[in-house]
Amino acid sequence: MVKAIVGANWGDEGKGKMTDMLAQDADIVVRFQGGANAGHTIVNDYGKFALHTLPSGVFYESITNVIGNGVALNIPVLFKELKDVVSKGVPKPKLLISDRCQMVMPYHVDFDAYEEERLKGKSFGSTKSGIAPFYSDKYAKIGFQVSELFMEEAELRDKIHRVCEIKNVLLVDLYHKEKIDEEALFNTLMEYKSMVEPYVGDVSAFLYKAIKEGKNVLLEGQLGSLKDPDHGIYPMVTSSSTLAAYGAIGAGIPPYEIKQIITVCKAYSSAVGAGAFVSEIFGEEADELRRRGGDGGEYGATTGRPRRMGWFDCVASKYGCRIQGTTDVALTVLDVLGYLDEIPVCVGYEVDGEITTDFPVTSKLEKAKPVLKVLPGWKEDIRGIKKYEELPKNCRAYIEFIEENIGFPIKMISNGPSRNDIIYR
Ligand code: GDP
Repeated sequence: MVKAIVGANWGDEGKGKMTDMLAQDADIVVRFQGGANAGHTIVNDYGKFALHTLPSGVFYESITNVIGNGVALNIPVLFKELKDVVSKGVPKPKLLISDRCQMVMPYHVDFDAYEEERLKGKSFGSTKSGIAPFYSDKYAKIGFQVSELFMEEAELRDKIHRVCEIKNVLLVDLYHKEKIDEEALFNTLMEYKSMVEPYVGDVSAFLYKAIKEGKNVLLEGQLGSLKDPDHGIYPMVTSSSTLAAYGAIGAGIPPYEIKQIITVCKAYSSAVGAGAFVSEIFGEEADELRRRGGDGGEYGATTGRPRRMGWFDCVASKYGCRIQGTTDVALTVLDVLGYLDEIPVCVGYEVDGEITTDFPVTSKLEKAKPVLKVLPGWKEDIRGIKKYEELPKNCRAYIEFIEENIGFPIKMISNGPSRNDIIYR
């Protein structure tokens, strides 16, 4: 049976913790999109980890961790992470890397930085991990698949030369930088080859067999619905699809095999990077929520940047859940809100004098003003509670209000950062 775990919002919903928890029943955990530009934070018995590329199943010895073809694979970053995990006492994880996965090249990272530099104030707030240049090249058909590391040397050198001809024009004429050293690039790729060789395989065939044998497969999404390049807040989006549907493509499995889609939705909002954020709050109100948020504050797992903060947004979350094809909602970091006397929730957008609960396209989103409803707080620490009925009355009312407004069932509530902080409904 295949389950997907994905985000409803702008990312950082607490998917890492939920995946780590759900991985307990999984045989295989698959990353199917994205790269090392975002990160999950996982707290477990081994310690606290920020995973960027490794699937969240790495903490379980029995799990095979798969990097699917849809991922932007940065090989040195992956191996650094692997080393870090093992050095903290985690048994060496089982890892399978798709031979069809494409690699983030050193020049992708450079191009990302040069473009941000060129755009100055008008930049997209990229994490400079090379993800946008990587996916541009993939679709321009000048990317490098892992499988190409294993072709004839002359063929690989020839391809490097052809690609560098294009890259060098941009490097010299647009960015005023040095040309790529083709020999050095070839040598780097040979290093990558020796690193990945023991792990490379046909992921799609592996998963086909595993599904037939009744294994439990967990597809692990990165970021959230609103960062999807098609359905998100384009152009302030990421460069690969963040939707569960893409799990079928990025892992190479039939779409009808995905039986459960668990969408993680945060009990308040946070976002990184630029772009419209209707329920955003500022000043001391935002600072306090940021300080108290997540597990040790709302700062980027990859960049350390302070996150933008806001109240729960029913409009964005309803849309975010719908576009994922949600079967179950997991509402996270609810414990954080225990300090508030009153909790505003965004229940509609006012655009050009009209109120809507449908998430608009970007040009209209920029004009949207939040319609807020204020709910009473519960003023209690809810960590440690295991049963829904034991939650304070106002806390249950908050959950039920959100559920009604987003229109998808909240089946899990996360009330703390660790694996065991979970309430099933
Ligand atoms: P992801 O990318 O979706 O995994 O999100 P993050 O890595 O940004 O995770 C959000 C942060 O919240 C991490 O520091 C988690 O340890 C923490 N976290 C996850 N769930 C909960 C929760 O229910 N309560 C609290 N207080 N922290 C949580």
